[in-house]
Amino acid sequence: MRIGLGFDIHKLVKGKRLILGGIQIPYHSGLKGHSDGDVVFHSISDALAGALGIEDIGTRFPNTDKSIKGISSRLILESYFNSLRKMGGKIVNLDIVILTESPYIKPWYEMMKKNIAEVLKIDPSCIGIKAKTMEGLGEIGKKKAIACFASVLIENL
Ligand code: ZN
Repeated sequence: MRIGLGFDIHKLVKGKRLILGGIQIPYHSGLKGHSDGDVVFHSISDALAGALGIEDIGTRFPNTDKSIKGISSRLILESYFNSLRKMGGKIVNLDIVILTESPYIKPWYEMMKKNIAEVLKIDPSCIGIKAKTMEGLGEIGKKKAIACFASVLIENL
């Protein structure tokens, strides 16, 4: 068995779509990034990269590459899932912590789980999602950014 940990943070900017876990969440601001800024998919991708001991998303999908500007983060996650498959690994479980002051995202947990489970070909019951506020502290607490931690356990490598 191998464990991986991923982290990501993006700035919130007005007038952009907010995509978290592949779901578009109604909000006045969205995450700025070279892709759609989905911190959930990015942190899961980096957790997989860490568990597999392969290059992280900044290396595989550099933000200097104009050809991938605005790409869906689902493609990034699929790329790491393909690496996992090629190396013969299987996900045991995945745990996600989203750090966000607003919006309130609990109503979207099940949809996010379903979406992530679909990409990673696992049962939604293998996925944990929770969101925490920063109690008003720091840049996330001031609603200027959203961050995410993900840890993944894989077996059969
Ligand atoms: Zn990112």
